[in-house]
Amino acid sequence: MSMQPIKADYLIVGAGAVGMAFADTLLTETTATIALVDRHHRPGGHWNDAYPFVRLHQPSATYGVNSRELGSGRIDTHGLNKGFSELATGAEVVSYFEAVMRERFLPSGRVQYFPMSAYDDDSAVTSLLSGKKRAVQARKIVDATQSKTTVPSRRPPQYAIADGMTCVPLNELPRVAHPEAEYVVIGAGKTAIDACCWLLENGADPDAIRWIMPRDSWLLNRANFQPGKEFFASFAKSVANQTEALNMAASVPDLFARLEACGEWRRIDPAIAPSAYHCAIVSDGELEQLRRIKNIVRLGRVVSIEADRIVLQHGTIPTNAKVLHIDCSSPGIPPNPPQPVFQGDRIVLQWVRYCAPTFSAAFIAHIEAACYDEAQKNALCTPVPTPQEPLDWLRMMAVEFANRYRWSKEPQLDDWRTSARLDGFTAQLRNLGPEDKEAMMHLQRYAASVSLAAAKTSQFLSEVV
Ligand SMILES: Cc1cc2nc3c(=O)[nH]c(=O)nc-3n(C[C@H](O)[C@H](O)[C@H](O)COP(=O)(O)OP(=O)(O)OC[C@H]3O[C@@H](n4cnc5c(N)ncnc54)[C@H](O)[C@@H]3O)c2cc1C
Repeated sequence: MSMQPIKADYLIVGAGAVGMAFADTLLTETTATIALVDRHHRPGGHWNDAYPFVRLHQPSATYGVNSRELGSGRIDTHGLNKGFSELATGAEVVSYFEAVMRERFLPSGRVQYFPMSAYDDDSAVTSLLSGKKRAVQARKIVDATQSKTTVPSRRPPQYAIADGMTCVPLNELPRVAHPEAEYVVIGAGKTAIDACCWLLENGADPDAIRWIMPRDSWLLNRANFQPGKEFFASFAKSVANQTEALNMAASVPDLFARLEACGEWRRIDPAIAPSAYHCAIVSDGELEQLRRIKNIVRLGRVVSIEADRIVLQHGTIPTNAKVLHIDCSSPGIPPNPPQPVFQGDRIVLQWVRYCAPTFSAAFIAHIEAACYDEAQKNALCTPVPTPQEPLDWLRMMAVEFANRYRWSKEPQLDDWRTSARLDGFTAQLRNLGPEDKEAMMHLQRYAASVSLAAAKTSQFLSEVV
């Protein structure tokens, strides 16, 4: 290894949304030098591999890095997101991160960027093109790879496909050049939802779509995730609804029913009890579209696509060579057990607020920059588990309530969140005026119910363990 070592205070492995959000806050709040290493040729991580019609499913206003707006704060006036804050397209997300790198990080003189490079277990960075290795001399290694995002274009289907059968990742859908005999969408997550909505929006007959849904999911209602003053009362109502639902619930199934009844949760078919939950967010417009698809196959995962049938875990259905099979079966964010964020000379980026990866990364960078000892840092950054099943909502909320409580005891964190664009809500809370009567009323409901809600969360979890 004769090349010069890479020297920096922080070496960040992964220049996806999370690594970028962490680096951005570190750049703002410290004088540290940073090296960013990524296998991709551009910042943005999995967004580089996403399907052409992907969009954020949460508003642009609270995504990306703290120092730079994403989007223009527009409210969509048409389409399935009508009336809500804009959702950046995948292309917009990628060009945003590229601009952050080119216009802010590199000109700072404090950031080195190593695209098309892999960080190895032996603490070296290897160029994917030359194979040359460089040693690393860094004060801290920051692991920004924990989400392990897995998208269909990067992972071949995990089922066998017979010769002559067509099965493509949803990335290929815009290349369809003639009507197919049938469209079989394979997968139950947000990616499959996007494939179904895209087919319907672009004129496919709902009866020509068959949707293989191994597990139904609880979905979140996009109306409750809207930033800005005009939506703050809805946000306050939503957090109060959650804590009151917890307080009133007699059992876990009763809790889920209450979360649905008060408009927090949605599901595609009210007759089916979902067994999955991944923080996927839909608008009621999307739900209405999805419900037009009547041919839903609930026979488990696909085992193989044969010349005349699809073999599933719990049965078979017919198919043929004229059918377009659309693979949406990769897990998105696979299960990943939480671990301490601060581990001496290693920082492992994870969620510290539920379903908020970029806010979490920026927050962790702020805690790293502030004067706390390691135990305090870890207490303030207890990782929120990424969810797989409905019960994980409770596991997330248990940590969420504890983190919110600890943060509330640190006034400087309130100040930071007030000025953090990725937070989206604390600034509204601070700027409430007498005219905001509805928001005030919901915040009082929340304040009156949150302690008991935290206790009920622990109680329900102890009952199911
Ligand atoms: C379709 C889709 C839509 C989504 N929409 C939203 C949304 O609206 N809002 C939201 O908050 N979240 C959303 N998410 C969740 C998403 O995972 C996060 O927003 C975020 O993009 C995750 O970023 P990341 O940096 O953690 O992971 P990634 O994007 O996976 O980036 C990790 C990077 O690490 C690199 N890497 C890994 N190992 C190494 C190594 N050894 N050496 C060098 N580089 C390495 C990889 O090349 C990769 O670029 C969505 C996810 C998907 C799949």
